[in-house]
Amino acid sequence: MAKDWLEGVNGSYDAVVIGSGLGGLTSANILGKMGHRVLVLEHHYQFGGLATWFKRPRRHIFDISLHGFPVGMIKSCRRYWTKEISDSIKQIKSIRFINPQFNIDTTFDRNDFTRILQETFQIPRERVEAFFEHLRQMNYYDRDTRTTKEMFEEFFPGRNDVHRLLMEPIAYANGSTWDDPAITYGIVFSNFMSKGVYIYQGGTDQLISRMTDELQRNGVEIRRNCLVEKVYTEDDPATGQRRVVGIRANGRGGESRDIACKAVVSNANIKNTVLQLAGAENFRPEFVAETEKVRVNTSSCQVYLGIREGESIPNIGDLVFTSEAPEYSSTELTDFNTTSRTFSVYYPDTRPQNPVQRYAIVASLNARWKDWEKLSEPDYAAAKERIITQALDGLEKFIPDIRQKVDWQEAATPRTVHHYTRHFGGTSFGTKFEGLKVSMELPEQVGGLYHAGSVGIIMSGWLGTINYGVIVASKADSFLMAAKRGEAAPAASN
Ligand SMILES: Cc1cc2nc3c(=O)[nH]c(=O)nc-3n(C[C@H](O)[C@H](O)[C@H](O)COP(=O)(O)OP(=O)(O)OC[C@H]3O[C@@H](n4cnc5c(N)ncnc54)[C@H](O)[C@@H]3O)c2cc1C
Repeated sequence: MAKDWLEGVNGSYDAVVIGSGLGGLTSANILGKMGHRVLVLEHHYQFGGLATWFKRPRRHIFDISLHGFPVGMIKSCRRYWTKEISDSIKQIKSIRFINPQFNIDTTFDRNDFTRILQETFQIPRERVEAFFEHLRQMNYYDRDTRTTKEMFEEFFPGRNDVHRLLMEPIAYANGSTWDDPAITYGIVFSNFMSKGVYIYQGGTDQLISRMTDELQRNGVEIRRNCLVEKVYTEDDPATGQRRVVGIRANGRGGESRDIACKAVVSNANIKNTVLQLAGAENFRPEFVAETEKVRVNTSSCQVYLGIREGESIPNIGDLVFTSEAPEYSSTELTDFNTTSRTFSVYYPDTRPQNPVQRYAIVASLNARWKDWEKLSEPDYAAAKERIITQALDGLEKFIPDIRQKVDWQEAATPRTVHHYTRHFGGTSFGTKFEGLKVSMELPEQVGGLYHAGSVGIIMSGWLGTINYGVIVASKADSFLMAAKRGEAAPAASN
């Protein structure tokens, strides 16, 4: 009989967290610290969600989403995780852009961008300053309906080279396009511009191991290989409101189990949460219609290249944005045959704790689920082979003998993302802007039901999901505290 990964869990908890992405883990950690009895259930064999890693023969190790995040992670990790985690966040210094319009190397912060925009793109300093000032003053609560493209045109009319420089890295970071609201661009870009790009030194495996240690110290029960199949609800006799009463989960050991709880924090995609896990019947029809309309962001492909043990490669930069497209466009970036890819280069100092010096390179491409979803197995295999070959061809321009140095190569696609996370449309970056409203209004529909995960572009990425996890945990805490005091939880717990 297969191992039951749910063995030993209690029959009831204050809160069940569905999924162990950074949003779910952060919510769980805060709820645990606040003294609630919390169970985290993750269906994958590894914790971390998209912030995860995998190992391959010959001691290769690859990070899935450790490419770069804003400096705010240092503060968030110190406040909501541990000093040790926070102290391991280090800046990466060389971000390169190589395309038919320009070739630059930058630290990707406001000072350096101001210099580049002036010197390379000949934009007057006052214009650059006005742009940064405008971004700084943008407010989420302003009802500004402009798109990112419209904002670029206002500040840098007709300058598609400048638009490319500003947009390309953000499109890779969160899948946004220039038709998305300018505010989402403004928040994310300003976060990066404040002090550049950072990564976690030690690797995602070390980060998640430190996080799970901390969760255990805070009394959180955390289980992997456990799929949550259903969120149970019933009508609260006191208020008449629909409320959470438990979940059904399967730990791969055979029969599924029911676990009672007062609150659920779902780290699954918001559409999965409403339409599948809870089920449309629990929500007002207008809310279901709104959820159905939420657009998910695009997905991605990655090519993982492991450098043979003992080999080294020259320093070609930490993040290298390359493209052969004459001009930038969101369509080209996500095209099945895109020529745009970013190389993330992992030098030995990514994992200084390793006794052997290892290098790895990951090529990332944005991609659309619909292009990959229905490929036959032979076509799928051929498409993966093609993106590997193209990634190696692209790298040969920097490292001519790269093919001799690589002894592990494989590709991941939108289907891979979907397989491991179950996210609707294999999305890498959650939902478009409108997803945030649905996520935040969830507990008004079903008491005790919360969502912490990538939504609305701004609550996405490592920093966005951690910060959103904190916000959601504090709402769930108020709800649970009210329930413990025997008070009827407020319907509008937001
Ligand atoms: C290729 C790639 C590169 C990226 N690079 C960066 C980067 O460089 N910097 C950055 O900041 N961000 C990056 N991101 C985005 C970032 O990784 C994500 O935004 C963030 O990690 C998402 O966290 P999350 O909390 O939304 O949950 P996710 O990481 O999406 O995790 C959700 C978890 O819920 C689990 N789950 C879902 N349904 C169930 C269920 N029914 N039962 C049990 N478990 C369930 C899933 O298995 C998953 O583990 C990248 C993403 C991808 C795909």
